Amino acid sequence: MLIEHINRQLREIDAAALRRKRRIGQTPCEPRQQWAGQGLMLTFCSNDYLGLASHPRLALALSDGARRWGAGSGASHLVSGHSQAHADLEARLGHWLAPHVPDAQALLFCSGYMANIALMTTLGDREATLFSDQLNHASLIDGTRLARASVQLFSHGDIAALSHQLAACRTPVKLIVTDAVFSMDGDVADLPSLLALAEEHDAWLVVDDAHGFGVLGERGRGSLEHFGLSSERLIYMGTLGKAAGVSGAFVAAHPTIIQWLVQRARSYIYTTAMPPVLAYTLNEALDLIEGPEGMQRRAHLQTMIGQLREGLRELVAQHDGLRLMNSFTPIQPLILGDNERALAMESALEARGIRVPAIRPPTVPAGTARLRFTLSASHTQVDVDNLLQHMHDIWIKEPA
Ligand SMILES: *Cc1c(COP(=O)(O)O)cnc(C)c1O
Repeated sequence: MLIEHINRQLREIDAAALRRKRRIGQTPCEPRQQWAGQGLMLTFCSNDYLGLASHPRLALALSDGARRWGAGSGASHLVSGHSQAHADLEARLGHWLAPHVPDAQALLFCSGYMANIALMTTLGDREATLFSDQLNHASLIDGTRLARASVQLFSHGDIAALSHQLAACRTPVKLIVTDAVFSMDGDVADLPSLLALAEEHDAWLVVDDAHGFGVLGERGRGSLEHFGLSSERLIYMGTLGKAAGVSGAFVAAHPTIIQWLVQRARSYIYTTAMPPVLAYTLNEALDLIEGPEGMQRRAHLQTMIGQLREGLRELVAQHDGLRLMNSFTPIQPLILGDNERALAMESALEARGIRVPAIRPPTVPAGTARLRFTLSASHTQVDVDNLLQHMHDIWIKEPA
């Protein structure tokens, strides 16, 4: 019977201490947030890297946009849900990425998950091979599972291995697929080498920049701007619910690829278009990202990253068995190894009013359980000092 079948599996995840629960936030997304049953917590876990999710200018744009556009889009893009607000945002995003993807056009999606499903299933047809980094995001993995293409995983960042796999591949279409910033480690893919491989082997490079868009690059245009890359072979996916502070995603690519997605991508065609008010609001988010305030927020974020890393480095030097990852992004994992140890640290911090998630297998490889800190431009130096002070105190008083 279904319910008993599910309950059996729920008991299994309980026995492994892997049951996930949702917490209820009672105030907007900010570093200091009120939580049901817990009160005020200082959090280091959102993807709101620039602190735009609760920015008053975006809240104003939302109310202004709602007066112009109402609440919903009413239909899918190909029926009647496509509006001038969507078209304007797509034109601007295409223009933003054009220095990196010549003649780029952009196509909006309701989420990055749906954009990745669209890319993998539409481009990954029977003629194609998808070469996917083994640490890629779940949405890319699900996309490769749905695709009719052959799929080859390559070990994380292993350019030499990938080169051999590409050389041996006989399908007419080859696509290399990678996260730009890996969400559990915070490291950045070697996009220049991956692009060189793509050019050498007549392949294409799909870049998922969920954690880079808005954050990397002088003007926040993401990982391609960071590396100064430009090629027609780049297929770019950026999300709009993380640093951009709203919701949604887009693909920027060669116009023919965009046209093919419009014709064939089921996660584009068979779903209601994003409300036009969100497209309207995202235009304001792009103003913030590329303007002086965005510059200043990215600079402050870098200062916070430096401060956190320096403090964690001291902790690692003083206590055994800790490891800091090689990351210059707002994603900063501290590897503790043991699952129980990571959970104990998470609870000890939580008892002190600080929320940092413990990430355990199977999300990360066995033996690499970790605390994953994510920073936002809304954090202050005092917030990071507080966090570090509590970590030092916990390690001295309750050595795990
Ligand atoms: C968050 C994320 C996505 C999914 O984006 P959503 O807009 O949240 O659906 C895709 N890829 C990566 C690497 C992500 O971190």
